[in-house]
Parts: sequence; C-alpha cells; structure tokens
Amino acid sequence: MIQDLGEKRLNNAYELRRPAPGDRFFRFDKDKILVRTQPDGRILLPTAGELGCPQGQYLFAIGGDRYFLEFPSKGVRQGDEVMPEGFTFESVRNFRKLELKELAFAAATAYHLYQWYRDNRYCGRCGRPVCHSDQERALYCPSCGNTIYPKIAPAVIVALTDGDRILLTRYNGRAYKKYALIAGFTEIGETAEQTVAREVMEEVGLKVKNITYYKSQPWGTDSNLLLGFFCELDGSDQITMDEDELSTAEWFHRGEMLEEDDGFSLTREMMAVFQRGER
Ligand SMILES: [Zn+2]
Repeated sequence: MIQDLGEKRLNNAYELRRPAPGDRFFRFDKDKILVRTQPDGRILLPTAGELGCPQGQYLFAIGGDRYFLEFPSKGVRQGDEVMPEGFTFESVRNFRKLELKELAFAAATAYHLYQWYRDNRYCGRCGRPVCHSDQERALYCPSCGNTIYPKIAPAVIVALTDGDRILLTRYNGRAYKKYALIAGFTEIGETAEQTVAREVMEEVGLKVKNITYYKSQPWGTDSNLLLGFFCELDGSDQITMDEDELSTAEWFHRGEMLEEDDGFSLTREMMAVFQRGER
C-alpha cells in the first residue's frame, strides 16, 4: 500500500524548523501541485533551493528527507509570472506518477495537511485569525483559546463475500473507472462496523454478517483514514443498486477478477487477497 515504504518510515513528530536548500517543498494551488515533468513521464518535486528558499511550514520527514509546505497565503499561484523554470502544476490525483513511491505518499499526506491549514485560517468559534502552535500540530486562537487539530475523516472499505464470490462495484460520475469495493464515510455516533452494514445496505441493498477488520490506510487526498473490512453475505444475494452512487454492482468469482494489486490502495490489496484465496 502507499504507506508501505520498506525501510523508510514517516516521521511526523512536530518540530519547528526552517527549510534548508535541499529540503523538498510543496506548493499547492487548489488541487494542483508544483512539479517538474521528465521526458519519460516521471514527475519530480521542487527543492526549497529551486524555489528561492521561501518560508514554509515543516510537515514531516521520510527516511531522512524533510518536506515543507509553502505558507498558503504567500505562494506564487498558477498563472503568475514567477514560476521556477521547467516546473508546472499537476493534479494531486496524479500523485502516483511521482518518481518514487515515498514521494507519492508524501504528496498525498502533504495535501491532507495543506487542506487543513488552508481551511482553518480563522477561528470557527469567534472568527479571529488563528496562530500556529509551537508545541504540536495544532492551530490556536489567541482571542478565545480555541485549539484546532488536524481533521481526519474515517471511512470504510468493504469486501463483501459469499463463498467464492465477491461484490465489485464501479462508481458513478467519478474519475476512477476501475472496479472497486463498497466504501463510505463513518457518520457521527456510528461504530465502523455499523458503517459497514449501513453502506452495504444503502449501496446494494444486501445484509451482512461476520464483519472482520483487515487493515487501515491513510488516504490524504480525501483527508481519510480508510478502514478495511471483510464481511459475508447474510441472506438474499439479490442486488438493489443505488444508481446515484454506483454505475455497476456485480458478483464476481475469484477466478474472474482482473484488477491486480497496484501497490498503492487498500481496495486493490483486499481484492488481491480474496483473489489469491487468502480470505
Ligand atoms: Zn477564537
């Protein structure tokens, strides 16, 4: 999965740091990220030096490399004249094209933090500007004392099985066109297991039993923590599809599955685990 980087690990301990010229720098503009595209299609991230050492917020380190976020209010934006030569803005949804897997994970995680900083410049309680904490990853309001922590939205990924069959779906109206699993956000007051049962009922009209937790995955582009569950069909296998949410929902035998583990997503790993007969 995207967060599995072998020997390298994410170190997200909060520190007060200034960028050094070799540190990698994230400059976002809405849902785009500043990159340099190589002739072979790989994309690279700029260093602080290449951007003229702007001010930035230290984010995290991976395997000794440090990553910073350009302060949102100070950045040069897409279309401005002062763009470093050879760099362009690319959709953050294309982060998998980054030259190394750790950069793809760094980009998704940085985008999660960028969205939180961007959307919390003023206190939601009293409306005054907020400050960055010196102590932890938090913003605080000097006027009313409100503290704002990063927002993480839990969501479930559900592999619904019936013997040697698994339910695969395709989303309606989204860029991702391959087969996927049932998925949805946890609502306030629910357990993750209740989310599993509710989402399956809402999307395909089926009952489930024997819900078991598999693994989790941070998915920063949507500010998610994804929680993967396997569960079994309980009763009728007659699908009633939510056509607003899905374009396809079908039972597939293990041997009919074509999508392979892409090394990035929890969904694809769970599909591969079932395909290999490990569940
Ligand atoms: Zn306040």
